[in-house]
Amino acid sequence: MLVLFANGSTCSYCGKSISGRYTTLNNKHYHNTCYENHIQLSCDYCDDKITGTYTETEGKNYHPACYRDHIQERCAQCGQLISGLYNIKDDKQYHEACFINYILPKCDICSLPIQDQYIEDFWGNMYHEKHTDALPDCDNCSRLICDSLTGGGYSINGKRYVCSVCEPTVVSDQSQIARSLRGVKTLLKKVGIQDLPRGIPITMVTDKDELIRLSGNRLGKIRGYTQYEAETIGEKTISEAYHIYILSDLHETVFDAVLAHELLHVYQIQNGYKLKSDVREGFCNLGSQLVYDHDGSDLARLQLRTMYESDDPDYGKGFRNMSSRLDQLGWEGILNNLPSFK
Ligand SMILES: [Zn+2]
Ligand SMILES: [Zn+2]
Ligand SMILES: [Zn+2]
Ligand SMILES: [Zn+2]
Ligand SMILES: [Zn+2]
Ligand SMILES: [Zn+2]
Repeated sequence: MLVLFANGSTCSYCGKSISGRYTTLNNKHYHNTCYENHIQLSCDYCDDKITGTYTETEGKNYHPACYRDHIQERCAQCGQLISGLYNIKDDKQYHEACFINYILPKCDICSLPIQDQYIEDFWGNMYHEKHTDALPDCDNCSRLICDSLTGGGYSINGKRYVCSVCEPTVVSDQSQIARSLRGVKTLLKKVGIQDLPRGIPITMVTDKDELIRLSGNRLGKIRGYTQYEAETIGEKTISEAYHIYILSDLHETVFDAVLAHELLHVYQIQNGYKLKSDVREGFCNLGSQLVYDHDGSDLARLQLRTMYESDDPDYGKGFRNMSSRLDQLGWEGILNNLPSFK
């Protein structure tokens, strides 16, 4: 921009001749007033005229200082100016490094920022997806077993794992079994299931494969099995024996739920019911539901959720059918109508 004195020029804005002081921009001449009112840029931030250099961005013009202080992006983490690439989260901008180090969530297992795929478990832990392949999960609470999440854990025959959070409450001896049996029988009695046979032996099995063999290779995620043997002469039963097998190292809440399930098998056998597998297992899982509802802990909620989400035709779908029948009929209605359920 120049300010000159000359004669004989024409104003490029109004087309009239210029005499006296005038302004030149890009080889064009203007009356000073034409230039100031129509050609000269104003700052889109402060509205004042711009003389000298200016900054143009997204079709707007600014005094360099106005741009730097008011328009240019600043990092919402460190407050410094951002030029070049940046990250956006919740309408805020961040330097890439600030974003990675301060804004991205940190993995609860390895403490590194989580850039892409992550898992959030039932307990609120967030971690990289890759850890799920590398670490065993707890047979009771499903937490990944490691120092940071569980403080370690132990393995059973190298096949099953229990975390150190669950370890203090796992059922491991006969006195715990007896206590569990009393509690579960009390719960069942309240809903009308009583006079179950006394003195049924309950044996813990450490190996899941062994339990599956005992059950006659039943499919599904079984954690218990009820064996029944009867000697009959003609129509008459002359001796009968029940034996309940339950997986070892179960959290006491899970143990109670499995025991309730097995006792409802006993109930069905005792009454001579021969039901379809989805009704049979669905009914037994109502016993587990009873235990978990009564317990009310987070672990109980997790187990219930797993039962409700299971796609197993008997333990999942069969259970959901029986559970909605229970909502309609109540326990008395369930017990009265059980043999007729299809
Ligand atoms: Zn003019
Ligand atoms: Zn300005
Ligand atoms: Zn920053
Ligand atoms: Zn990680
Ligand atoms: Zn656990
Ligand atoms: Zn069962």
